[in-house]
Amino acid sequence: MSIHRKSCNCRAKKSSNTKFSSKRKSVKKLPSKLTMMQQFSRSIASRSVNNKRTDEATKQLRFLSCFGDSSIGGKLRPCDELEKSETEGKFYCSACGCGDKKSTWLEAESDSYSKLDYPYLSCPLKMPGFSDYDNSDSKQNIRKNVIDNYDARKLVQLKVSVKGKE
Ligand code: SF4
Repeated sequence: MSIHRKSCNCRAKKSSNTKFSSKRKSVKKLPSKLTMMQQFSRSIASRSVNNKRTDEATKQLRFLSCFGDSSIGGKLRPCDELEKSETEGKFYCSACGCGDKKSTWLEAESDSYSKLDYPYLSCPLKMPGFSDYDNSDSKQNIRKNVIDNYDARKLVQLKVSVKGKE
């Protein structure tokens, strides 16, 4: 269960009307808030003044880890930590402790910079595509195992926003 979920009762109202409300939260121990803030500082440094971005394939893998593959007709559910933003059509990670704001939305439209664009990006669950990816728990973590063995031909079908592409 995420720290955010424990400390904020405003979620009770919000979760009742989201399609993610019935999901069981991950029981895996998440990194401390300080650790996640340090990781995000590292992300910002990796972006640099030139707005560097990760490559499209890495972003697709990150997208799969966060959102699953229902957008291409698959059955892989979204991550338990994925939360709907108060802003229509936006999503953020509830486990990283950064909250719901434009800079933490995982995906954006076309040219806009989103969180999944950072060259260095940490995932609290160390999922595939993220810079601190760790597959040592892949045998127990079914979702991670599915993504580890995901068909590359399907992965490239995932639509992610990439600078210069509509
Ligand atoms: S960043 Fe990691 S923990 Fe957060 S929603 Fe994505 S896959 Fe889940």
